[in-house]
Amino acid sequence: MGLDNSNSTSIFAFASFFNFFMKKSTAPGFLALFIPSLLFLMSCSSPSDTGDKKTKIICTTGMVADLVKQVTGDVATVNHVIPSGLDPHTYKPTPQNISEIMSADIVIYSGIGLEAKLEEILENYGKQDGKFVFSLGEGLPDSSLIYVEDGHSVDPHFWFDIDLWSKATSHVENELSSHMPAFQLEFADRAAKYRSSLSDLKDWARTELNQIPNGQRVLVTVHDAFSYFGASFDVQVRGLLGISPELDAGVQDVSSLVDFLVQNKIAAVFVEESLPTRTMEAVVAGCQNYGHNVSLGEKLYADNVGAAGTPQDNYLGMFKHNVKTIVNALK
Ligand SMILES: [Zn+2]
Repeated sequence: MGLDNSNSTSIFAFASFFNFFMKKSTAPGFLALFIPSLLFLMSCSSPSDTGDKKTKIICTTGMVADLVKQVTGDVATVNHVIPSGLDPHTYKPTPQNISEIMSADIVIYSGIGLEAKLEEILENYGKQDGKFVFSLGEGLPDSSLIYVEDGHSVDPHFWFDIDLWSKATSHVENELSSHMPAFQLEFADRAAKYRSSLSDLKDWARTELNQIPNGQRVLVTVHDAFSYFGASFDVQVRGLLGISPELDAGVQDVSSLVDFLVQNKIAAVFVEESLPTRTMEAVVAGCQNYGHNVSLGEKLYADNVGAAGTPQDNYLGMFKHNVKTIVNALK
C-alpha cells in the first residue's frame, strides 16, 4: 500500500483539515503556502517502477484515466477521483480524494483550467520532492488552443479536437517514459496503437457528420464545451452558458437563443450528462411559442466519460456516442 499506519492517520487528519479549509477559505494563496509545508511532513513511499508493487497513478477525471491506461496497460494501477456524472469545473475534492492523491506515485490532471478547484493544489503538490504531477494541457502547443473572452482564458475542452487528444497521448507517453524508463518501449507501442485508433475515429466522425445538411450544422449545448469540436468538423457551436457552467442562464440568454433557433430553423438542441436540463427545456418551450418545434436531443458527454461499465466509459465510446447523437438529431 505504500503507507504505514501513522502516515494514514496523519493523512486523515490533514484531509479533514483540508476539507474544512476548502469549505471555509476563499483564499487559494493561503492554501498554496499551507499545503506544501504539511505535505513535507508526511513522507509517502517513493515512486518505483521496478519494485514488487505497481506504480500507482491517480487522475482527476475518468477521461484522463482512460488515456493513461491506454498508454500504461497493466504495468500501473490507474484510478481517478472525480466521479463520472459530476462536473469537473466545480468539483471540490473530498478528504478521501486528497488521501488518494497523496498516496499515489504519479498524479495526472487535464489542466488549462478544467479542474478549477484542484489545479493550484496539484501544481503546488507537484513542487514537493519525490512527487510527480503533470497535466495533459501542458503538452499541447499554445497555438493550437482556443482563447476566450478577453483573450487570456483558455478553453479547456481540447479533447474534442481528436488531434489534440492524440498530442496529449504523446505527452503522457513521454512523461511516463521518463519516469518509468523500464517500460519505455511498451509505452511507445501502446501509444502508437492508440493514436492510430484516434486517427480512425476522426475519419469515421467526419464521414458521419457529413450527413448533416449545411444549414443544420449547428450544435447548441448547455455550456460552451464544443468549440474545439466545431473547429475540427466545421460545425457552428453555441452554448447557453460560458465555458464553465457555474452560473445559471438568465432570461436574456434564453430569449436570445430562442430567437437564434427560430430564425435559423434549427431542428435540435442538446443537454449534457453532468448538467441540469431545465434551462434547455425552457428554450424548447420558448421555440414552441413561436410555432417552431425544436427537439431535445439525447444527452451529450461534455467534460467526462460515462459511468464504468457503459459503452461511453472511455474516450472512443464517448466520442462515438456524441457524434451519433448529433447526427441522428440534425440530419
Ligand atoms: Zn466543460
